[in-house]
Amino acid sequence: MSEIIVRYPPSPTGFFHIGTARTVLYNFLFAQKNKGKAIMRMEDTDKNRSEKQFEENILSGIQTLGMKWDGEIEYQSKRTEIYTKYLSQLLAEDKAYYCFSTPEELNTLRELAQKEKRAFRYPETWRGADKKLVQEKLDAGEKSVIRYKLPKNVSEITFTDAVRGEVTIKLTELDDFVIAKNLETALYNFCVVIDDHDMNISHVIRGEDHISNTPKQILLFKEFGWEIPTFAHLPLILNADKSKLSKRKNKVSVDDYLADGFLPEALINFLALLGWNTSDEQEIFTMEELVEKFSLDRVHKGGAIFDIEKLKWINQEWIKKMDISEFYKRVLEYWKSEYVKKSEKYNFDISLFGDLNNEKNSIFLQEALALVKDRTKQLSEVFENLELFYTEDATLAYSTDIYFHKKMKTSRETAEESLKFAKKIIENLDDNFKFTADNLKTVFVEKIKEAGFKNGYILYPLRVALSGSEFSPGTLELLEIFGKERSLVRMNRGIDLCQ
Ligand code: GLU
Repeated sequence: MSEIIVRYPPSPTGFFHIGTARTVLYNFLFAQKNKGKAIMRMEDTDKNRSEKQFEENILSGIQTLGMKWDGEIEYQSKRTEIYTKYLSQLLAEDKAYYCFSTPEELNTLRELAQKEKRAFRYPETWRGADKKLVQEKLDAGEKSVIRYKLPKNVSEITFTDAVRGEVTIKLTELDDFVIAKNLETALYNFCVVIDDHDMNISHVIRGEDHISNTPKQILLFKEFGWEIPTFAHLPLILNADKSKLSKRKNKVSVDDYLADGFLPEALINFLALLGWNTSDEQEIFTMEELVEKFSLDRVHKGGAIFDIEKLKWINQEWIKKMDISEFYKRVLEYWKSEYVKKSEKYNFDISLFGDLNNEKNSIFLQEALALVKDRTKQLSEVFENLELFYTEDATLAYSTDIYFHKKMKTSRETAEESLKFAKKIIENLDDNFKFTADNLKTVFVEKIKEAGFKNGYILYPLRVALSGSEFSPGTLELLEIFGKERSLVRMNRGIDLCQ
């Protein structure tokens, strides 16, 4: 087989879109798996809408997500002369022509077609126009576009899509489509063919929304006598209500998801499953595993629903898998990241943790993180979850209503007994008792049993007193991290509040 070469062709007209990220990912995986190459091609011919900041955002986003391209970045804006050359060739060979129909004329025809409930097709007004007349109009500077002359001897275009199988489109569904605004301004369907040929693209892997462009592009490949790449059209990404993924119903930029505390690995994992799966039940994949397992023939034909709950689940699984030092690193990176700094929503004060270059502070933070890690779905929750470890022990604020727990048979009224009992256990510990969760568990279980209480009757109010919350890391783990003194201060605070 000849070399596999794919392309990432984003238009830098917006921030790195989650759909673009999925397309780039499938291209990347396919190229990696087949030891091929990926070309980065900025489709920046739309000068009004293309912006440097979008380009930079897309390029850095691709890298942040752990993907890459090969060689130099190609810019369509720098390839004008090449397009002009091929446009001139088609015009000279009478395979394209200038069209002077005005937008008003065409609109009238379009409205008529709509009224008569038929598809609008350009009526080929200028297809066979007199060459002299055309030249005169051009010389006079009249506005025109360049249209491709749809061949009359072809009735349909059939291609084998690597995802969808055989696709046939009747030429009656097409018309003499516009390939350029003028000799210097070629349009998408034209540029893409020239580029895919010039860059030896073997596989065009892109969203299903481009499938209607494919026959046009195939016609042009054929017109030039060039080899046609293999096409693979990926299913649309849909909102939960099955409408096309939109800004109104979902966040669509990759940065938004990173800002919300999703890990790049989890985003990749999630995007990979947005239209593809393996034959087994596996759901958590590293990039290496994806490269190994990816194939176009397992890409789905039907639309892929963007399920944010699934993304949260995947993110949590990735966090659970992480060791604590890695988690610590990621959390700090996240806190220091641009999006967090810029965002009002996540605007918090990292100085809460003290100087983290101080080993004691850093170890305490790591210990606290270890307690909240597995409950964390998004890095954006971590700060809030940690606050309980840093609030002043003697003034910890919470509503005593949360001492009520039906199953544990506890309430504000019973909490005093529970906390005093726990306090006694702790106060009676030997001086050389090692204050670890495991050791504390042995002592607590034994003493609670001896006294004839239920574990929850003592431990639930203790959890509330230590954390100021009904949901928290394990009670005995909290005792360990706070140590004897701080734990007792929090327990006394609980007793005071309940009186
Ligand atoms: N620039 C086009 C886009 O962003 C690329 C389409 C293609 O893959 O041909 O949709």
